[in-house]
Amino acid sequence: MLGSIRINGVKYNLQRIRSNTRRGYATIKDRIITIRIPRLLDPYSATVMYFELKHKAVRYVRKHPTAQQDSRKSVLTDGSEAIIIGMPFQVKIEICDGCRPEAIFEPKILRIRIRGDTKPAEEARLVEKLVSKAALPIVKARVQYMNSTYFGARIERVSLKSMRSRWGSYSKSMKSISLNSKLIFAPTEVLDYVIAHELAHSAVFDHSERFWAEVTKAVPEYKERRRWLRKNGEMLGTYSEH
Ligand SMILES: [Zn+2]
Repeated sequence: MLGSIRINGVKYNLQRIRSNTRRGYATIKDRIITIRIPRLLDPYSATVMYFELKHKAVRYVRKHPTAQQDSRKSVLTDGSEAIIIGMPFQVKIEICDGCRPEAIFEPKILRIRIRGDTKPAEEARLVEKLVSKAALPIVKARVQYMNSTYFGARIERVSLKSMRSRWGSYSKSMKSISLNSKLIFAPTEVLDYVIAHELAHSAVFDHSERFWAEVTKAVPEYKERRRWLRKNGEMLGTYSEH
């Protein structure tokens, strides 16, 4: 690290890396500006390039406030309240050394254990991963219930994944359903809609009328649920901006 810089009131850490690339470039992620300088460059040119790229990166962040989208911090902070799959929990974050990071659902308490040496930039992502791992059995039970009640598909694998652009996916060949892990923070009706949507794909591949008729069997109010996702989906999750 080369210290930090404040842009629009937000603190960014600076990182300089000599890399095997031919040209230098800067990336901005999780409030870290990383500047890569070709390893073969002489020290003088490397310094000039570093300041040029730093200047460019700072100008970019100033002009594109959304570039800060990745600089998110967890809203699952110690003492906060979270509703996960429709159930309210008080979040307790425990920092421990040498322990196995994990999230445990206890009555009314979501206990999250992370190690003291977790990098701040990785913490939010790790928390999301641990919480979705702990929530997976509950999600699996809902998939099984909806499947046996309305669809009767052969599903061998259900997973929660961090996805950027989709709420879920179904694979016929893998007999699997993947759901966006952000859905555990959505109202349960919305989670159930996405489950029904993916299960309906086991019967109809496309989004034809026949497909929506399948979805309707399980979720007659599916239009409302879709509207909710379109309107509120962006803000779901363990993360929020700034
Ligand atoms: Zn679909």
